[in-house]
Amino acid sequence: MSNPTRRRTPQTSPPREKPTRWECHCQEPPVLLATYDRSGRVNIKVRDRYWNVGSPVHTVCPKCGAEHLLDLPADDALFSPVP
Ligand SMILES: [Zn+2]
Repeated sequence: MSNPTRRRTPQTSPPREKPTRWECHCQEPPVLLATYDRSGRVNIKVRDRYWNVGSPVHTVCPKCGAEHLLDLPADDALFSPVP
């Protein structure tokens, strides 16, 4: 009985869900501020570094200076571990 999927914290999250783009539509194409997924994780790329933060996130568009607030709903059982 081999069990390849052990209870371990994955080092990299599998790309099973497409992240949603959080962007400012002050221009075309829109300015990408960050991406987020359903688990409430917000990924912000700053140069060669990724910031992985939780909501709410407050940022400013680098192009137009507009303030943006990303407040994801703290949803039900999204963070519950897989049994
Ligand atoms: Zn903008």
